[in-house]
Amino acid sequence: MTNTQAIAHQLAKVLTRYSADYIEARLEESQSSYITYRGRELDSIGRVRAIGGNVRAMVKGAWGFVSFNDLNELPGRVELAVKQAQFAGSEESQLAPVEPVVDILSTEPDKNPVVIPLAEKKQLLDEYNDIIWRTPKLQTSMIGYGDSYKKVIFLNSSGSYIEQDRADVILRLTAVATADHEVQQAVLSLGSRGDFSLIQGLHQPIEQMAQHAVELLSAPQVKGGEYTVVLDPVLAGVFAHEAFGHLSESDFVYENDRLREIMTLGRKFGSSQLNIVDNATMPGLRGSYKYDDEGVPATKTYLIREGKLVGRLHSRETAAKMKEKPTGNARAINYHYPPIVRMTNTYIEPGSASFEELTGDIKEGIYVKNWYGGTTSMEMFTFSAGEAYMIRHGKLAEPLRAVVLTGNVFTTLMNIDGIGNDLKMNQGGGCGKGEQVPLPVTNGSPHIRIRHCLVGGR
Ligand SMILES: [Zn+2]
Repeated sequence: MTNTQAIAHQLAKVLTRYSADYIEARLEESQSSYITYRGRELDSIGRVRAIGGNVRAMVKGAWGFVSFNDLNELPGRVELAVKQAQFAGSEESQLAPVEPVVDILSTEPDKNPVVIPLAEKKQLLDEYNDIIWRTPKLQTSMIGYGDSYKKVIFLNSSGSYIEQDRADVILRLTAVATADHEVQQAVLSLGSRGDFSLIQGLHQPIEQMAQHAVELLSAPQVKGGEYTVVLDPVLAGVFAHEAFGHLSESDFVYENDRLREIMTLGRKFGSSQLNIVDNATMPGLRGSYKYDDEGVPATKTYLIREGKLVGRLHSRETAAKMKEKPTGNARAINYHYPPIVRMTNTYIEPGSASFEELTGDIKEGIYVKNWYGGTTSMEMFTFSAGEAYMIRHGKLAEPLRAVVLTGNVFTTLMNIDGIGNDLKMNQGGGCGKGEQVPLPVTNGSPHIRIRHCLVGGR
């Protein structure tokens, strides 16, 4: 038994002795490594080990939260969290009931990317950087690699004791090309649930990415206006997560009167083909887990089913306050933060259309691929696509400079009139909410077609 486990076992015995309505503790041991390049030069490389934890206590509806790096300080920290909560609490504590769970999932890591020597990782990234720099007209490049392995022990005053582990790998490459005062860029973003082999052997896609940045220098700008657009699985997945998914987070819904009115269960949001799901129970994805950071079992939650709003994402507290079932969506980026309502693996379920069926009857439209960036503000979104092509008479035509899609998420959901049969999950994403960024998530979708989409140049 490790020292952290011994401390957790001791704490489990005494957690009910404090005068609080509820107490939980999370103890973490993590290792991570990172390598970054700016242009040709190596920018940073290193390894980090961290150990720490937190205690969260609820008294009369208020939370106390204390994080710490020295596990030996634990009893004092529990008292402090309880005192904080006692000081602020004045209502009734509301937490949806959950059966206590005792489960030990982690014994030995089968995929720990951190143990692969840094030299081996650097050699692979050197090769990738060389490929990028073989491209003519290159102005600069960026590479960011990170991996981690984390063991988490969760326990609470209801008798839950859970040990889980998780591993992550993330790689993002950017190539920037320039000619005649023009600058264009292309991005490739990938990730995995700790499997380093998924970022090996990418020499060819990276070469294509760098060449794409150069091609864009001579590509025409789109003529702004309304088009029928076909989104690839990456961009459609980001749309599902960013434009719609965040509006399904119940802490946000509960606190916002207008949004609560809009997000009425049973309301029609799209055609009967449209299903949007958040599902942490899918195996092996970056947003997957068995229990969330409140010890609640992960679930598959339909947000939109057959076009109607049927669910939303909950912590125990939001579920109790909104009188709905907990969904196991309380997540914290690390022990420095309390869990908040987050997405996991969010995707549009596949339909039946082939890519040719989606594009076949489009006279003049646009095919948009990959996520480049964007912003959302309530129901409005603005997304930049990484790649774009004209669709002419049902066929893919010339490449375009990067385009921007703008719209109202609810109007856009209604305008989805074609859903492909080719669901793909994109593992390159990281989600931000408040200070907690980037949280490992996965977005996915098949190709989808949207009518009357407003498209502009970047
Ligand atoms: Zn997000």
